[in-house]
Amino acid sequence: MSAHSVPLHCPYCAGEFLYPHGERHGAWECRECLRAFTVGFLGLLAPTDSPGSTSGTAAVKGESS
Ligand SMILES: [Zn+2]
Repeated sequence: MSAHSVPLHCPYCAGEFLYPHGERHGAWECRECLRAFTVGFLGLLAPTDSPGSTSGTAAVKGESS
């Protein structure tokens, strides 16, 4: 994953006029509410509760014809 974290909307006013804030990495500023904020990466989630975790091998065995 080499893409930078680019916010699409301001987390405060949901504005779309976001611009990089200075030289700081991951820092953005909203031109609508005039807030500056940072977008950071916290870590990966454990893929334990993915939807459809039940494998699709149920009720296939024992077919008698
Ligand atoms: Zn804003």
